[in-house]
Amino acid sequence: MSQPILYYSTNHQSKKISFREALLQGQAPDRGLYMPERIPQLTKDEILEFSKKPYYEIAYEVVNRFLQNEIPSNDLMAIVKDAYDFDIPLEHVYDRNYLMRLDQGPTASFKDFAARMMGRLMQYFLRRENRKMLVLTATSGDTGSAIANAFYGLDNIQVVILFPETEVTDRQRKQMTTLHKNISVIALDGKFDDCQAIVKMAFCDQDLNYLKLSSANSINIGRLLPQSVYYFYAFSRLAKDKNDSIIFSVPSGNFGDLMGGIIAKHIGLPVKRFVVSTNANDEVPVYFKDGSYKTIVPSRNCISSAMNVGHPSNMARIIDLYGGVMDEKGNISEPPDVQRLKSDIYAVSIKDDETKTTIKNVFERHKILLEPHGAVGWAGLLQFFNNNPADNFHDQLTVTLETAHPAKFPKEINEILHIDPALPPSLANLDEKEEIMVAMKNDYNKFKGYLIKNFK
Ligand SMILES: *Cc1c(COP(=O)(O)O)cnc(C)c1O
Repeated sequence: MSQPILYYSTNHQSKKISFREALLQGQAPDRGLYMPERIPQLTKDEILEFSKKPYYEIAYEVVNRFLQNEIPSNDLMAIVKDAYDFDIPLEHVYDRNYLMRLDQGPTASFKDFAARMMGRLMQYFLRRENRKMLVLTATSGDTGSAIANAFYGLDNIQVVILFPETEVTDRQRKQMTTLHKNISVIALDGKFDDCQAIVKMAFCDQDLNYLKLSSANSINIGRLLPQSVYYFYAFSRLAKDKNDSIIFSVPSGNFGDLMGGIIAKHIGLPVKRFVVSTNANDEVPVYFKDGSYKTIVPSRNCISSAMNVGHPSNMARIIDLYGGVMDEKGNISEPPDVQRLKSDIYAVSIKDDETKTTIKNVFERHKILLEPHGAVGWAGLLQFFNNNPADNFHDQLTVTLETAHPAKFPKEINEILHIDPALPPSLANLDEKEEIMVAMKNDYNKFKGYLIKNFK
Protein backbone atom coordinates (compact mmCIF):
# COMPACT_ATOMS: atom_id res chain seq x y z
CA MET A 1 0.00 0.00 0.00
CA SER A 2 0.97 3.62 -0.48
CA GLN A 3 2.08 6.19 2.10
CA PRO A 4 -0.05 6.40 5.24
CA ILE A 5 -2.69 9.14 5.19
CA LEU A 6 -2.24 11.77 7.90
CA TYR A 7 -5.02 13.90 9.35
CA TYR A 8 -4.78 17.70 9.59
CA SER A 9 -6.90 20.19 11.49
CA THR A 10 -9.25 22.53 9.59
CA ASN A 11 -7.78 25.37 11.71
CA HIS A 12 -4.26 24.48 10.44
CA GLN A 13 -2.49 25.09 13.81
CA SER A 14 -2.26 21.58 15.29
CA LYS A 15 0.18 19.05 13.86
CA LYS A 16 -0.86 16.26 11.50
CA ILE A 17 -1.54 12.92 13.16
CA SER A 18 -2.48 9.33 12.30
CA PHE A 19 -6.05 8.04 12.08
CA ARG A 20 -5.62 6.27 15.41
CA GLU A 21 -4.61 9.48 17.16
CA ALA A 22 -7.39 11.51 15.51
CA LEU A 23 -9.94 8.87 16.52
CA LEU A 24 -8.88 8.81 20.18
CA GLN A 25 -8.47 12.59 20.37
CA GLY A 26 -11.76 13.67 18.73
CA GLN A 27 -11.26 17.39 18.26
CA ALA A 28 -7.87 18.92 17.37
CA PRO A 29 -6.13 20.97 20.11
CA ASP A 30 -6.62 24.13 17.99
CA ARG A 31 -10.40 23.40 18.04
CA GLY A 32 -10.44 22.47 14.37
CA LEU A 33 -11.74 19.20 12.93
CA TYR A 34 -9.51 16.49 11.52
CA MET A 35 -9.53 15.85 7.77
CA PRO A 36 -7.56 13.33 5.67
CA GLU A 37 -4.74 15.07 3.81
CA ARG A 38 -5.43 12.85 0.82
CA ILE A 39 -8.66 11.20 -0.34
CA PRO A 40 -8.11 7.72 -1.77
CA GLN A 41 -9.68 7.04 -5.17
CA LEU A 42 -11.93 4.28 -6.46
CA THR A 43 -12.62 3.72 -10.18
CA LYS A 44 -16.17 3.30 -11.49
CA ASP A 45 -15.43 -0.38 -12.18
CA GLU A 46 -14.33 -0.90 -8.59
CA ILE A 47 -17.49 0.85 -7.35
CA LEU A 48 -19.77 -1.25 -9.59
CA GLU A 49 -18.06 -4.40 -8.24
CA PHE A 50 -19.56 -3.47 -4.85
CA SER A 51 -22.93 -4.65 -6.20
CA LYS A 52 -21.80 -8.21 -5.50
CA LYS A 53 -20.57 -7.52 -1.96
CA PRO A 54 -22.51 -7.48 1.32
CA TYR A 55 -22.65 -4.13 3.13
CA TYR A 56 -19.88 -4.92 5.59
CA GLU A 57 -17.43 -5.74 2.80
CA ILE A 58 -18.13 -2.38 1.15
CA ALA A 59 -17.47 -0.78 4.54
CA TYR A 60 -14.19 -2.64 4.68
CA GLU A 61 -13.15 -1.54 1.17
CA VAL A 62 -13.92 2.13 1.83
CA VAL A 63 -12.63 2.52 5.39
CA ASN A 64 -9.51 0.42 4.82
CA ARG A 65 -8.32 2.88 2.19
CA PHE A 66 -8.26 5.62 4.83
CA LEU A 67 -6.55 3.51 7.48
CA GLN A 68 -3.67 2.36 5.25
CA ASN A 69 -2.18 -0.42 7.37
CA GLU A 70 -3.12 1.01 10.77
CA ILE A 71 -5.28 -2.10 11.32
CA PRO A 72 -4.50 -5.53 9.80
CA SER A 73 -7.08 -6.60 7.18
CA ASN A 74 -8.42 -9.54 9.18
CA ASP A 75 -9.03 -7.40 12.23
CA LEU A 76 -10.77 -4.64 10.27
CA MET A 77 -12.94 -7.20 8.48
CA ALA A 78 -13.98 -8.68 11.84
CA ILE A 79 -14.88 -5.19 13.10
CA VAL A 80 -17.11 -4.27 10.15
CA LYS A 81 -18.78 -7.67 10.11
CA ASP A 82 -19.67 -7.31 13.76
CA ALA A 83 -20.81 -3.68 13.38
CA TYR A 84 -23.09 -4.14 10.36
CA ASP A 85 -25.40 -7.06 10.99
CA PHE A 86 -28.67 -5.32 10.05
CA ASP A 87 -30.58 -4.55 6.81
CA ILE A 88 -30.45 -1.38 4.72
CA PRO A 89 -33.73 -1.42 2.77
CA LEU A 90 -33.92 0.53 -0.51
CA GLU A 91 -37.64 1.14 -0.97
CA HIS A 92 -38.85 1.84 -4.48
CA VAL A 93 -41.16 4.87 -4.67
CA TYR A 94 -41.71 5.67 -8.37
CA ASP A 95 -39.62 5.65 -11.60
CA ARG A 96 -36.01 5.48 -10.37
CA ASN A 97 -36.81 7.24 -7.11
CA TYR A 98 -35.88 5.38 -3.90
CA LEU A 99 -35.91 5.78 -0.15
CA MET A 100 -32.92 4.34 1.72
CA ARG A 101 -33.93 3.36 5.25
CA LEU A 102 -30.99 3.79 7.60
CA ASP A 103 -33.20 2.99 10.59
CA GLN A 104 -32.74 -0.75 11.11
CA GLY A 105 -29.87 -0.55 13.60
CA PRO A 106 -30.24 -1.20 17.33
CA THR A 107 -31.43 2.35 18.17
CA ALA A 108 -33.40 2.84 14.94
CA SER A 109 -31.43 5.90 13.85
CA PHE A 110 -28.76 6.34 11.17
CA LYS A 111 -26.37 7.33 13.97
CA ASP A 112 -25.93 3.59 14.62
CA PHE A 113 -23.82 3.31 11.45
CA ALA A 114 -21.20 5.70 12.78
CA ALA A 115 -21.39 4.88 16.49
CA ARG A 116 -20.99 1.13 16.07
CA MET A 117 -17.90 1.48 13.92
CA MET A 118 -16.34 4.17 16.08
CA GLY A 119 -16.87 2.23 19.31
CA ARG A 120 -15.27 -0.89 17.88
CA LEU A 121 -12.32 1.00 16.39
CA MET A 122 -11.64 2.76 19.71
CA GLN A 123 -11.89 -0.51 21.59
CA TYR A 124 -9.49 -2.12 19.12
CA PHE A 125 -6.74 0.47 19.58
CA LEU A 126 -7.19 0.73 23.35
CA ARG A 127 -7.02 -3.01 23.83
CA ARG A 128 -3.89 -3.28 21.69
CA GLU A 129 -2.23 -0.63 23.85
CA ASN A 130 -3.71 -1.92 27.08
CA ARG A 131 -5.29 1.48 27.79
CA LYS A 132 -8.63 2.58 29.15
CA MET A 133 -10.80 5.57 28.33
CA LEU A 134 -13.78 7.46 29.73
CA VAL A 135 -16.13 8.80 27.06
CA LEU A 136 -18.30 11.79 27.95
CA THR A 137 -21.31 12.61 25.78
CA ALA A 138 -23.97 15.29 26.04
CA THR A 139 -27.13 14.38 24.18
CA SER A 140 -30.51 15.75 23.22
CA GLY A 141 -31.68 12.18 22.60
CA ASP A 142 -30.52 10.27 19.53
CA THR A 143 -26.74 10.54 19.86
CA GLY A 144 -26.77 9.36 23.48
CA SER A 145 -28.78 6.25 22.73
CA ALA A 146 -26.70 5.34 19.66
CA ILE A 147 -23.45 5.80 21.58
CA ALA A 148 -24.75 3.96 24.64
CA ASN A 149 -25.83 1.03 22.54
CA ALA A 150 -22.69 0.92 20.40
CA PHE A 151 -20.30 1.12 23.38
CA TYR A 152 -22.29 -1.18 25.64
CA GLY A 153 -20.16 -4.05 26.93
CA LEU A 154 -16.85 -2.78 25.47
CA ASP A 155 -14.34 -3.63 28.18
CA ASN A 156 -11.82 -0.77 27.91
CA ILE A 157 -14.32 2.07 27.67
CA GLN A 158 -16.60 3.61 30.28
CA VAL A 159 -19.34 5.93 29.03
CA VAL A 160 -21.03 8.77 30.89
CA ILE A 161 -24.01 10.38 29.17
CA LEU A 162 -25.62 13.65 30.25
CA PHE A 163 -29.10 14.45 29.04
CA PRO A 164 -31.47 17.35 29.84
CA GLU A 165 -34.04 15.82 32.20
CA THR A 166 -37.13 17.29 30.54
CA GLU A 167 -36.01 17.46 26.90
CA VAL A 168 -35.85 13.82 25.80
CA THR A 169 -38.74 11.46 25.16
CA ASP A 170 -39.45 8.49 27.47
CA ARG A 171 -38.40 6.14 24.74
CA GLN A 172 -35.11 7.93 24.13
CA ARG A 173 -34.34 7.97 27.84
CA LYS A 174 -35.07 4.28 28.28
CA GLN A 175 -32.77 3.42 25.39
CA MET A 176 -29.94 4.83 27.53
CA THR A 177 -30.94 4.00 31.10
CA THR A 178 -31.86 0.32 30.69
CA LEU A 179 -28.41 -0.87 29.55
CA HIS A 180 -26.27 -0.56 32.73
CA LYS A 181 -22.77 -2.19 32.83
CA ASN A 182 -20.25 0.34 31.44
CA ILE A 183 -22.95 2.91 30.54
CA SER A 184 -23.74 5.53 33.22
CA VAL A 185 -26.49 8.05 32.64
CA ILE A 186 -27.04 11.44 34.27
CA ALA A 187 -30.34 13.31 34.12
CA LEU A 188 -29.36 16.96 34.41
CA ASP A 189 -31.70 19.58 35.79
CA GLY A 190 -30.94 21.87 32.83
CA LYS A 191 -31.02 22.31 29.04
CA PHE A 192 -29.04 20.51 26.35
CA ASP A 193 -26.68 23.49 26.16
CA ASP A 194 -25.96 23.08 29.90
CA CYS A 195 -25.07 19.42 29.37
CA GLN A 196 -22.73 20.39 26.57
CA ALA A 197 -21.13 23.16 28.64
CA ILE A 198 -20.44 20.78 31.54
CA VAL A 199 -18.83 18.22 29.24
CA LYS A 200 -16.63 20.91 27.68
CA MET A 201 -15.53 22.12 31.14
CA ALA A 202 -14.56 18.58 32.12
CA PHE A 203 -12.35 18.28 29.01
CA CYS A 204 -10.47 21.45 29.99
CA ASP A 205 -10.14 20.50 33.70
CA GLN A 206 -6.53 19.53 34.52
CA ASP A 207 -7.68 17.73 37.69
CA LEU A 208 -9.42 15.17 35.49
CA ASN A 209 -6.50 14.42 33.15
CA TYR A 210 -5.94 11.09 34.87
CA LEU A 211 -9.35 9.88 33.66
CA LYS A 212 -8.30 9.95 29.96
CA LEU A 213 -11.48 11.65 28.82
CA SER A 214 -12.60 11.46 25.21
CA SER A 215 -15.66 12.52 23.30
CA ALA A 216 -17.93 10.62 20.96
CA ASN A 217 -19.76 13.48 19.32
CA SER A 218 -20.09 14.01 15.60
CA ILE A 219 -16.85 15.92 15.16
CA ASN A 220 -14.85 12.70 15.47
CA ILE A 221 -13.36 11.54 12.16
CA GLY A 222 -14.12 7.99 13.30
CA ARG A 223 -17.81 8.78 13.05
CA LEU A 224 -17.52 10.43 9.68
CA LEU A 225 -15.83 7.85 7.47
CA PRO A 226 -18.38 5.08 8.14
CA GLN A 227 -21.05 7.51 6.93
CA SER A 228 -19.69 7.51 3.39
CA VAL A 229 -20.27 3.77 3.00
CA TYR A 230 -24.04 3.70 2.53
CA TYR A 231 -23.77 6.12 -0.41
CA PHE A 232 -21.64 3.54 -2.23
CA TYR A 233 -24.03 0.81 -1.18
CA ALA A 234 -27.08 2.62 -2.64
CA PHE A 235 -25.37 3.37 -5.95
CA SER A 236 -23.93 -0.11 -6.37
CA ARG A 237 -27.32 -1.71 -5.78
CA LEU A 238 -29.31 0.63 -8.06
CA ALA A 239 -26.97 1.76 -10.86
CA LYS A 240 -27.62 0.51 -14.39
CA ASP A 241 -24.08 0.87 -15.69
CA LYS A 242 -20.86 2.89 -15.60
CA ASN A 243 -22.48 5.97 -17.11
CA ASP A 244 -25.21 6.21 -14.51
CA SER A 245 -25.26 9.04 -11.96
CA ILE A 246 -27.19 9.61 -8.76
CA ILE A 247 -28.84 12.44 -6.83
CA PHE A 248 -29.01 12.07 -3.03
CA SER A 249 -31.30 14.05 -0.76
CA VAL A 250 -29.88 14.30 2.77
CA PRO A 251 -31.85 15.68 5.75
CA SER A 252 -29.20 17.62 7.69
CA GLY A 253 -28.42 19.07 11.11
CA ASN A 254 -24.74 18.93 11.96
CA PHE A 255 -23.95 17.94 8.35
CA GLY A 256 -22.03 14.79 9.32
CA ASP A 257 -24.28 12.60 7.18
CA LEU A 258 -23.81 14.93 4.20
CA MET A 259 -20.06 15.11 4.81
CA GLY A 260 -19.89 11.30 4.48
CA GLY A 261 -21.59 11.65 1.09
CA ILE A 262 -19.27 14.41 -0.05
CA ILE A 263 -16.27 12.26 0.85
CA ALA A 264 -17.82 9.41 -1.19
CA LYS A 265 -18.11 11.77 -4.16
CA HIS A 266 -14.48 12.83 -3.80
CA ILE A 267 -13.46 9.15 -3.69
CA GLY A 268 -15.11 8.75 -7.10
CA LEU A 269 -18.81 8.02 -6.60
CA PRO A 270 -20.70 9.63 -9.54
CA VAL A 271 -23.00 11.87 -7.52
CA LYS A 272 -24.65 14.47 -9.74
CA ARG A 273 -25.97 16.55 -6.87
CA PHE A 274 -26.56 16.47 -3.13
CA VAL A 275 -29.84 18.05 -2.13
CA VAL A 276 -29.24 19.22 1.42
CA SER A 277 -32.43 19.79 3.32
CA THR A 278 -32.49 21.58 6.65
CA ASN A 279 -35.51 22.42 8.77
CA ALA A 280 -36.20 26.06 9.77
CA ASN A 281 -32.58 26.28 10.95
CA ASP A 282 -31.66 27.67 7.55
CA GLU A 283 -28.19 29.19 8.12
CA VAL A 284 -26.67 27.05 5.37
CA PRO A 285 -29.38 27.56 2.71
CA VAL A 286 -29.13 31.31 3.43
CA TYR A 287 -25.35 31.16 3.04
CA PHE A 288 -25.73 29.41 -0.32
CA LYS A 289 -28.20 32.09 -1.42
CA ASP A 290 -26.55 35.32 -0.38
CA GLY A 291 -23.01 34.35 0.63
CA SER A 292 -23.17 35.47 4.26
CA TYR A 293 -22.99 32.83 6.99
CA LYS A 294 -24.81 33.66 10.24
CA THR A 295 -25.28 31.14 13.04
CA ILE A 296 -28.75 30.86 14.58
CA VAL A 297 -28.72 31.26 18.38
CA PRO A 298 -30.66 29.74 20.02
CA SER A 299 -31.54 27.16 17.38
CA ARG A 300 -35.17 27.00 16.24
CA ASN A 301 -37.38 24.19 17.57
CA CYS A 302 -38.80 21.98 14.83
CA ILE A 303 -40.46 18.54 14.85
CA SER A 304 -37.35 17.13 13.14
CA SER A 305 -35.68 17.70 16.49
CA ALA A 306 -32.35 15.97 15.77
CA MET A 307 -31.73 18.67 13.14
CA ASN A 308 -32.29 21.70 15.37
CA VAL A 309 -28.78 22.99 14.82
CA GLY A 310 -27.94 26.68 14.41
CA HIS A 311 -24.29 26.15 13.49
CA PRO A 312 -23.44 22.76 12.01
CA SER A 313 -20.04 21.62 13.28
CA ASN A 314 -19.18 19.92 9.99
CA MET A 315 -19.52 23.15 7.97
CA ALA A 316 -15.83 23.75 8.72
CA ARG A 317 -15.01 20.48 6.97
CA ILE A 318 -17.14 21.26 3.92
CA ILE A 319 -15.62 24.74 3.55
CA ASP A 320 -12.18 23.15 3.93
CA LEU A 321 -12.78 20.55 1.24
CA TYR A 322 -13.78 23.33 -1.15
CA GLY A 323 -10.63 25.33 -0.51
CA GLY A 324 -11.72 27.75 2.23
CA VAL A 325 -11.17 28.14 5.98
CA MET A 326 -13.95 28.41 8.58
CA ASP A 327 -13.18 28.43 12.31
CA GLU A 328 -15.19 26.72 15.04
CA LYS A 329 -17.28 29.85 15.58
CA GLY A 330 -18.34 30.01 11.94
CA ASN A 331 -16.06 32.86 10.80
CA ILE A 332 -14.83 32.37 7.24
CA SER A 333 -11.27 33.71 6.88
CA GLU A 334 -10.70 32.20 3.45
CA PRO A 335 -13.66 31.84 1.07
CA PRO A 336 -14.26 28.44 -0.55
CA ASP A 337 -14.79 27.86 -4.28
CA VAL A 338 -18.47 28.80 -4.16
CA GLN A 339 -19.13 27.87 -7.77
CA ARG A 340 -17.93 24.30 -7.26
CA LEU A 341 -19.74 24.10 -3.91
CA LYS A 342 -23.02 25.11 -5.53
CA SER A 343 -22.63 22.75 -8.45
CA ASP A 344 -22.23 19.83 -6.01
CA ILE A 345 -24.74 20.88 -3.37
CA TYR A 346 -28.26 22.33 -3.51
CA ALA A 347 -29.35 23.64 -0.09
CA VAL A 348 -32.99 24.12 0.87
CA SER A 349 -34.92 24.83 4.09
CA ILE A 350 -38.24 23.11 4.88
CA LYS A 351 -40.59 24.44 7.56
CA ASP A 352 -42.68 22.21 9.87
CA ASP A 353 -45.93 22.81 7.94
CA GLU A 354 -44.40 21.45 4.78
CA THR A 355 -42.79 18.56 6.68
CA LYS A 356 -46.21 17.51 7.97
CA THR A 357 -47.90 17.88 4.56
CA THR A 358 -45.12 15.78 3.06
CA ILE A 359 -45.67 12.93 5.55
CA LYS A 360 -49.36 12.99 4.64
CA ASN A 361 -48.91 13.20 0.86
CA VAL A 362 -46.23 10.55 0.60
CA PHE A 363 -48.30 8.14 2.67
CA GLU A 364 -51.43 8.74 0.60
CA ARG A 365 -49.75 8.72 -2.82
CA HIS A 366 -47.05 6.08 -2.38
CA LYS A 367 -48.01 4.13 0.76
CA ILE A 368 -44.63 5.04 2.21
CA LEU A 369 -44.31 6.03 5.86
CA LEU A 370 -41.84 8.84 6.57
CA GLU A 371 -40.90 10.37 9.90
CA PRO A 372 -40.16 14.12 10.26
CA HIS A 373 -36.42 14.01 9.34
CA GLY A 374 -36.89 11.88 6.22
CA ALA A 375 -39.88 14.05 5.25
CA VAL A 376 -37.63 17.14 5.28
CA GLY A 377 -35.34 15.30 2.87
CA TRP A 378 -38.23 14.28 0.65
CA ALA A 379 -39.70 17.80 0.52
CA GLY A 380 -36.26 19.20 -0.29
CA LEU A 381 -35.92 16.87 -3.27
CA LEU A 382 -39.31 17.97 -4.64
CA GLN A 383 -38.29 21.61 -4.30
CA PHE A 384 -35.02 20.87 -6.10
CA PHE A 385 -36.93 19.24 -8.98
CA ASN A 386 -39.28 22.22 -9.21
CA ASN A 387 -36.37 24.59 -9.57
CA ASN A 388 -34.26 22.29 -11.77
CA PRO A 389 -36.74 20.69 -14.18
CA ALA A 390 -33.89 19.49 -16.41
CA ASP A 391 -32.85 17.06 -13.65
CA ASN A 392 -36.39 15.78 -13.20
CA PHE A 393 -36.74 13.09 -15.84
CA HIS A 394 -38.02 9.59 -15.28
CA ASP A 395 -34.65 7.93 -15.80
CA GLN A 396 -32.72 9.94 -13.20
CA LEU A 397 -31.69 7.81 -10.21
CA THR A 398 -32.48 9.57 -6.91
CA VAL A 399 -32.23 8.35 -3.33
CA THR A 400 -33.63 10.12 -0.25
CA LEU A 401 -32.12 9.12 3.09
CA GLU A 402 -34.57 8.19 5.87
CA THR A 403 -32.55 8.71 9.04
CA ALA A 404 -34.86 7.39 11.79
CA HIS A 405 -37.65 4.88 12.26
CA PRO A 406 -41.19 6.35 12.25
CA ALA A 407 -41.93 4.54 15.53
CA LYS A 408 -39.50 6.92 17.26
CA PHE A 409 -42.03 9.71 16.61
CA PRO A 410 -45.39 8.17 17.55
CA LYS A 411 -47.01 11.44 18.61
CA GLU A 412 -46.18 13.35 15.42
CA ILE A 413 -47.15 10.44 13.15
CA ASN A 414 -50.42 9.91 14.97
CA GLU A 415 -51.35 13.58 14.75
CA ILE A 416 -50.76 13.64 10.99
CA LEU A 417 -51.88 10.17 9.85
CA HIS A 418 -53.93 8.84 12.79
CA ILE A 419 -51.97 5.60 12.84
CA ASP A 420 -49.51 4.11 15.31
CA PRO A 421 -46.35 2.88 13.59
CA ALA A 422 -45.30 -0.58 14.78
CA LEU A 423 -42.22 -0.70 16.99
CA PRO A 424 -39.16 -2.38 15.51
CA PRO A 425 -37.88 -5.27 17.67
CA SER A 426 -34.96 -3.15 18.86
CA LEU A 427 -37.32 -0.69 20.57
CA ALA A 428 -39.77 -3.22 21.95
CA ASN A 429 -39.60 -4.42 25.57
CA LEU A 430 -37.97 -1.20 26.78
CA ASP A 431 -40.80 -0.66 29.25
CA GLU A 432 -40.11 -3.90 31.09
CA LYS A 433 -36.44 -3.17 31.76
CA GLU A 434 -35.07 -1.52 34.87
CA GLU A 435 -33.97 2.09 34.51
CA ILE A 436 -30.89 3.32 36.34
CA MET A 437 -29.79 6.97 36.26
CA VAL A 438 -28.41 9.67 38.51
CA ALA A 439 -30.35 12.91 38.93
CA MET A 440 -28.02 15.91 39.14
CA LYS A 441 -28.25 19.67 39.68
CA ASN A 442 -26.90 21.82 36.86
CA ASP A 443 -23.60 22.41 38.66
CA TYR A 444 -20.16 21.57 37.28
CA ASN A 445 -18.66 20.82 40.71
CA LYS A 446 -21.33 18.21 41.37
CA PHE A 447 -20.46 16.55 38.07
CA LYS A 448 -16.73 16.69 38.78
CA GLY A 449 -17.27 15.15 42.22
CA TYR A 450 -19.31 12.38 40.64
CA LEU A 451 -16.55 11.53 38.16
CA ILE A 452 -13.83 11.53 40.84
CA LYS A 453 -15.88 9.36 43.14
CA ASN A 454 -16.98 6.79 40.57
CA PHE A 455 -14.09 6.44 38.14
CA LYS A 456 -10.46 5.59 38.75
C1 LIG B 1 -28.60 13.35 13.83
C2 LIG B 1 -29.77 13.16 12.93
C3 LIG B 1 -29.90 13.86 11.70
C4 LIG B 1 -28.89 14.87 11.24
O1 LIG B 1 -27.67 14.31 10.85
P1 LIG B 1 -26.38 15.24 10.76
O2 LIG B 1 -25.27 14.33 10.46
O3 LIG B 1 -26.25 15.90 12.10
O4 LIG B 1 -26.65 16.23 9.66
C5 LIG B 1 -30.99 13.59 10.90
N1 LIG B 1 -31.93 12.72 11.29
C6 LIG B 1 -31.87 12.05 12.45
C7 LIG B 1 -32.96 11.13 12.82
C8 LIG B 1 -30.78 12.24 13.32
O5 LIG B 1 -30.73 11.58 14.48
